[in-house]
Amino acid sequence: MNQPASSYSIAPGDWLGIVGGGQLGRMFCHAAQSLGYKVAVLEPAAPCPAGVAADLHIRADYDDVQALDRLSALCRAVTTEFENVPAQSLERLAQNSRVCPAADAVAIVQDRIREKAFIHSMGVPVAPHAPILAADDLAAAPETLFPGILKAARLGYDGKGQVRVGTREEALQAFAGFKGAACVLEALMPLDFEISIVMARGLDGKTVVYAPATNEHRDGILAVSAVPAQVAAEHQPLYEQATNAALRIAEGLDYCGVLCVEFFVLRDGRLLANEIAPRPHNSGHYTMNACVSSQFEQQARAMAGLPLGATDNLCACVMLNVLGDVWFDAADALCEPDWPAVLAEPAAKLHLYGKVEARRGRKMGHVNVLGASLDEAREAAARVAATLGIRF
Ligand code: ATP
Ligand code: MG
Repeated sequence: MNQPASSYSIAPGDWLGIVGGGQLGRMFCHAAQSLGYKVAVLEPAAPCPAGVAADLHIRADYDDVQALDRLSALCRAVTTEFENVPAQSLERLAQNSRVCPAADAVAIVQDRIREKAFIHSMGVPVAPHAPILAADDLAAAPETLFPGILKAARLGYDGKGQVRVGTREEALQAFAGFKGAACVLEALMPLDFEISIVMARGLDGKTVVYAPATNEHRDGILAVSAVPAQVAAEHQPLYEQATNAALRIAEGLDYCGVLCVEFFVLRDGRLLANEIAPRPHNSGHYTMNACVSSQFEQQARAMAGLPLGATDNLCACVMLNVLGDVWFDAADALCEPDWPAVLAEPAAKLHLYGKVEARRGRKMGHVNVLGASLDEAREAAARVAATLGIRF
């Protein structure tokens, strides 16, 4: 008897596909391959971190119809590693393959205006904001949105595509810089700390959630995640609230695959959802070494229609992001970081993404530093950070 298309499982040995050739795609390849799958990557750039790890690299643009058809003819399920894949490409893939997450879900998440409206409609609070489609919208924006952050509605990442604006005048200038692109003006909120919930939802609607990490950003880029999050007793209810909010959001999107919801905790204790990443997330990289199943393995399981794995923490972990900056010495000359010194720390697990060129601010890898306790992990992470010249 045929199984319904929504629940059939794809057996190891078969092909899984991914659109996007960056580091998330690379780590997905490794996880899917260790479950026995073959992986095809669609990515125009070569060489690229995922392309060299994949069983097949289809080198074409994300909207190349022939390439999309080739991917979906080969792969019974396809995912993406970034939210900016054209929704039409996902729809095209869906003619032949299971697409996780589905085009509708990605279309909501890739537009900050729709995303915020959707999160709000799920009963989850977001920062006060206003869509800015024209300069008039800025003139009409309430005074309470200043100081604020003007963010491009589409295509932002790692703090790119956003400008802090103190006044309406500054906002008008910044908006001119976006050259007519739709934006959102968000009030600058007094953050106490940031948390993210990484979870997976299977084709059957079953969900698993990872323990929250505490995230520290520098210059708009995630720098450090730590688990277990140092939760003061009074913050415990916030984590439960965040988990419930993430579950509601995943359900509302009828989501399949791994999803991350980023939250702000304000100084007055309120919790706001910042944004949704429809994919494995940088703040979930600790799961590769510190959990029973990594977030990338969950992505492969979810899209293959397999049961999801346990998310339990096996130990404490501090994840240090390694940016291209650590390749530059005091005289600004390029030199390879001292990897043997990093790996001399017995509990340091190094993940490099195989990017050919180091640039400042570019994510080149991460180190998961494990420990029996968070204090132990932090001490070892401090030594690794000192070796690499990362502020910790
Ligand atoms: P990423 O790819 O790292 O998630 P992004 O470009 O999608 O970044 P956001 O997540 O919106 O951008 O913002 C990046 C960081 O900037 C946040 O994690 C937070 O530290 C800060 N930030 C963003 N919006 C606000 C706000 N309204 N108030 C205060 N801080 C903010
Ligand atoms: Mg973000």
